[in-house]
Amino acid sequence: MSALLGVRGITRSFYGVSALSGVDFEIEEGTLTGLIGPNGAGKSTLFNIVSGAFAPDRGNISFAGEDITGRAPRRIVERGLVRTFQLARGFPKLSVFQHLMLYGPHQPGEHLWSALSRGAAGRKREAELAERAFSIAKRLRLDHVIDNRVTHLSGGQKKLLEIGRALMAEPRMILLDEPMAGVNPTLTGEIAAHLSELHRSGITICLIEHDMALIRELCDPVIVMAEGKTLTEGSFAAVAADPRVQEAYLGRRH
Ligand code: ADP
Ligand code: MG
Repeated sequence: MSALLGVRGITRSFYGVSALSGVDFEIEEGTLTGLIGPNGAGKSTLFNIVSGAFAPDRGNISFAGEDITGRAPRRIVERGLVRTFQLARGFPKLSVFQHLMLYGPHQPGEHLWSALSRGAAGRKREAELAERAFSIAKRLRLDHVIDNRVTHLSGGQKKLLEIGRALMAEPRMILLDEPMAGVNPTLTGEIAAHLSELHRSGITICLIEHDMALIRELCDPVIVMAEGKTLTEGSFAAVAADPRVQEAYLGRRH
């Protein structure tokens, strides 16, 4: 049995300064894995590399048995591996519905707008995408704001839309970078419930989150990074009790 995602020996420097100096882990299909570590540990940089935004200096990434190291982000999305961004990115003038439609799964090598302009087949595809957009909006309880402009959404609704965008690609795995950051406690609970539901529906999830109560509640296993490396991995209880993990967090505070 091989893991769904394999991260092996990843290193990356920026302007001669090392950001990642040896990241190794595997994520099994069907898990909701937490990725934690002090600020600056390299978690977001690792997501950037896994999703194809940057190439690593060394090491490789495999997904579903295929080497995806250095592939274009769009190709990686097509394989079923999708990331979300900390801030919903932008097309502020678009409605929630239009925004979701933009991210529908494309035929290999095909752009949405050319697909849509291709007669009957294009119209059928547009109808399918629209249905998908509505059902995702409903699933995330964004259906009542589906015609609102993205700029008129609350912070929490923007986070949900970012998850919705990822779902439009029909992902097998989602990488979430602090999807609850800056959101009030009620909405945090709501987003957590959505993540549990997506996980139960069969999507593999890797979650970066600094709120340890949420990590404890949602994630098993938990991978810990510090100073550009993987430090350890295990159940929340096991990693929280690990002196090296405590040291990594304390070391940053002093
Ligand atoms: P985390 O998400 O764990 O808080 P980051 O991945 O954001 O950590 O940052 C790890 C290190 O990589 C930091 O020192 C950061 O400054 C550096 N880094 C990340 N991306 C870039 C970039 N594009 N250019 C320069 N430095 C970067
Ligand atoms: Mg980060």
